[in-house]
Amino acid sequence: MTTIVIGGGVVGLSLAYGLLKQGKDVIVLDGEDDDFRASRGNFGLIWIQGKGANAPHYAMWSRRSASVWEGFAKDLFAETGVDVAYQNAGGIDYFTDEDELETQVQSLTKLRGDLGGDYPFEILDHVGLKARVPEIGPKVIGGIYSLMDGHVNPLYLMRALSIAVRQAGGQVKTGARVVDVDAQDRDFTAILADGTKITGDALVLAAGLGATDLSKSLGFAAPIRPQQGQILITEKLPFFLKYPSGTLRQVNEGGVQIGASKAEVGFDDDEDIATSAILAQHAIDIFPHLENVKLVRSWAALRIMSPDGLPIYQRSPRALGASFVTCHSGITLAAAHACLMPDWLLERNNAPDVSAFSESRFHV
Ligand SMILES: Cc1cc2nc3c(=O)[nH]c(=O)nc-3n(C[C@H](O)[C@H](O)[C@H](O)COP(=O)(O)OP(=O)(O)OC[C@H]3O[C@@H](n4cnc5c(N)ncnc54)[C@H](O)[C@@H]3O)c2cc1C
Repeated sequence: MTTIVIGGGVVGLSLAYGLLKQGKDVIVLDGEDDDFRASRGNFGLIWIQGKGANAPHYAMWSRRSASVWEGFAKDLFAETGVDVAYQNAGGIDYFTDEDELETQVQSLTKLRGDLGGDYPFEILDHVGLKARVPEIGPKVIGGIYSLMDGHVNPLYLMRALSIAVRQAGGQVKTGARVVDVDAQDRDFTAILADGTKITGDALVLAAGLGATDLSKSLGFAAPIRPQQGQILITEKLPFFLKYPSGTLRQVNEGGVQIGASKAEVGFDDDEDIATSAILAQHAIDIFPHLENVKLVRSWAALRIMSPDGLPIYQRSPRALGASFVTCHSGITLAAAHACLMPDWLLERNNAPDVSAFSESRFHV
């Protein structure tokens, strides 16, 4: 029988890919072109430093995903010929404010203690940082380097996953908006907008912001909200930026990506000039030579945020065989979703313990 995955973003496709590798039949139902699609508008980081500052289990889960990312990228390349431009030279966060640097150092130091000491990062002053990244400007007072961080081209990742899923025998149905689900134990019928019915014995709700509409019939609370992020990209430049940061990275094609802002503006994915100006100024403060380059594109996309910013992995309390998966770091966690989560979806004994990410944490 078939597992129905609702949502063909990076979360749904990563899970579908992993399930296919476990020998399951999978059909991915993906909505319309005008849906909100974080997977096509994100920053492309596999970012670990600072993540889970007050939630060590999330820090560990993110790091576990990062640790299997290289093998995941290699498998995708071997199976599809698509190089997702995975880079793991580490990342550097740049600081222009002493207090902000100090606060972040304290936060990372606490997290390192919470994790028993295994949390590598290095504090660099201006001179140390300039030795590593000569292009930094005088306003940069220092930075934090961590070898745990990396980045990919998220659009190549989407291409690789959608080829890999089809090649492994999965179906990906596009323009397939699910409007309702009839859910019984291990017996699911997804009803599409055109009336088509798709049946399966398991179901994964991975529809990003579209999950809210379907969550009730499956017994999920799905307490998610949109959070807007805006991103700028420059013309292609000679390569100078080996290390991505949380706000700046040079993509494999040469453009420098700048972002991403954070704004609570509901379901609004229009970019605005004021935010673009702040992002551009930040980039120039770090790398003054960017003042003279052209911006070629900007966009806004919506993150899928839970109340505490952590992923939600929840089995349906109403129908055996249904699960809900969502997160706001779907690129970082793509490798965990493809390589580790299928065991959880298949309810195996060796599944990762993700119980701390269930919805029950929101009812305390
Ligand atoms: C500005 C920005 C920067 C980000 N930067 C990073 C980063 O650097 N690193 C990182 O790890 N993460 C980052 N993220 C987060 C990451 O992009 C998301 O976690 C990830 O894309 C979520 O994927 P998803 O598949 O859950 O959702 P989406 O990509 O939104 O996909 C949901 C899919 O579900 C489909 N759908 C919705 N409703 C239905 C329905 N009823 N029936 C059928 N299909 C449906 C939609 O068509 C869509 O294709 C960023 C996000 C943003 C917005």
